[in-house]
Amino acid sequence: MSPKRPRFVIQKHAASRLHYDVRLEVDGVLKSWAVPKGPSTDPREKRLAMAVDDHSLGYADFEGVIAEGEYGAGSVIVWDMGCYRNLTERDGEEVPIADALERGHAVVWLDGKKLRGAYALNRFGRDPDERRWLLVKVRDQDADARRNPVSTQPESVLSGRMVEQVAEEELA
Ligand code: MN
Repeated sequence: MSPKRPRFVIQKHAASRLHYDVRLEVDGVLKSWAVPKGPSTDPREKRLAMAVDDHSLGYADFEGVIAEGEYGAGSVIVWDMGCYRNLTERDGEEVPIADALERGHAVVWLDGKKLRGAYALNRFGRDPDERRWLLVKVRDQDADARRNPVSTQPESVLSGRMVEQVAEEELA
């Protein structure tokens, strides 16, 4: 039996401030970052990614409305999803993803519908409690400065809906 590959999901979340929640399945939970501008396919674009609380695996395909008054109130769509591979190495040795994130440097290969190829996640400084990270496309065959899927492909990969539509439909 081949081991099941871990999943990643990116949810577009129209909360008080619009952002994209990038989540990686690691040891049975979804490690998560809130990325205000969303991911880029251009290696020159460094995107701020704020570490947020782990989410349960069951949240990966959540689309809908988080009620007013609750944490993260607003609507959510699954903007991209797929599997990922951990490419993190140190001195030529493979570093398990949990260790890589603990150390604040990880490289993952995304196999999504909109995003593909390697992305680097690097935490600011050495403090393990630091919440600020940068999410950057690695220069590879999938890097493309002309693509901008955050603006040209705003729809859900699960339902085809826009995040604004989810809010209208569920509150109607
Ligand atoms: Mn969020």
